[in-house]
Amino acid sequence: MDQPTAACVTGLTRNSCLCAEDVDVRFAQEDQRKKYNVDANIIVEKWRLHKVQSPIELKHEESNECDHFEPLEFHGHWDVAGSGNLFNNGFTATLTFYDRELPVLKGGPLLNDNFVFEQLHFHWSDDDHSGCEHIFEGRAYSMEAHAVHYNQKYNSFKEAVDKHDGLAVVAFFLQATDDSKNELFEKMCEATKKIDKVNSKTQIPPDCLLWFKEQANCKGYYTYQGSLTTAPFCESVTWIIYPTPIAISREQVSTFRNLKSTPCEKTIVKNVRPIQIPEKNWIFIMYDRTGEAEIDRNVELRKKF
Ligand SMILES: [Zn+2]
Repeated sequence: MDQPTAACVTGLTRNSCLCAEDVDVRFAQEDQRKKYNVDANIIVEKWRLHKVQSPIELKHEESNECDHFEPLEFHGHWDVAGSGNLFNNGFTATLTFYDRELPVLKGGPLLNDNFVFEQLHFHWSDDDHSGCEHIFEGRAYSMEAHAVHYNQKYNSFKEAVDKHDGLAVVAFFLQATDDSKNELFEKMCEATKKIDKVNSKTQIPPDCLLWFKEQANCKGYYTYQGSLTTAPFCESVTWIIYPTPIAISREQVSTFRNLKSTPCEKTIVKNVRPIQIPEKNWIFIMYDRTGEAEIDRNVELRKKF
């Protein structure tokens, strides 16, 4: 097979019905529509024509191996600098940084562009078996974290959100286990306990992302071209998905279920978009020359869950 290039990292998927989504999700999406000043209905219809919606199910055997890109690099995600904020926007808990140079993602399928950290947020459900958005090899995990970055050449997230190369989102699976707390994830949970009311926020230590450092240093990850999983659903996302879940405790997962949503103080029990059924898509598993061993290690680690 010919070596694929980043330009051919693309996909075709079919939308499922948006009406099936949880009512709380729609309230939160309305807020996003106002924030980004877009007509969500028009945007959704527009992107339906393109049919590369997310999330999707990932299957290793249907992925194309790709080993000729530069390594993916995380810069500044684990720095102890400036401050962090965790905010309950009625849909999820969102982490942003301020008073510091923002982290940057580069390399791998992002080629020569730098992508600036915008925010990180979480998806979860009312049980420990269905809170992720992407499905990997038929398996769902308890939570999925999305680290959202925008292409620096567009100057802001708002400007980048509807550009085909505008966004890069790194996804990490989190799995509830009977083991003790994940201490690296505990800073996130302690802050989450302080923002149960909608539109509340709290400070969080800037080194609160250390829980995904080990994952991010793995060479093997999946990538495809897809969309935002919330309104305005723009097909502007280069997805980068690490397949091995990060273990956290059941209590840590349940912390997120105490967050309240708009407008009626109901708790956010589920903020997951359904899988979008693909007609055809191109998914790539990426690794550099040392990556093959990492993928084998990932497979071994996954057997634990
Ligand atoms: Zn998300």
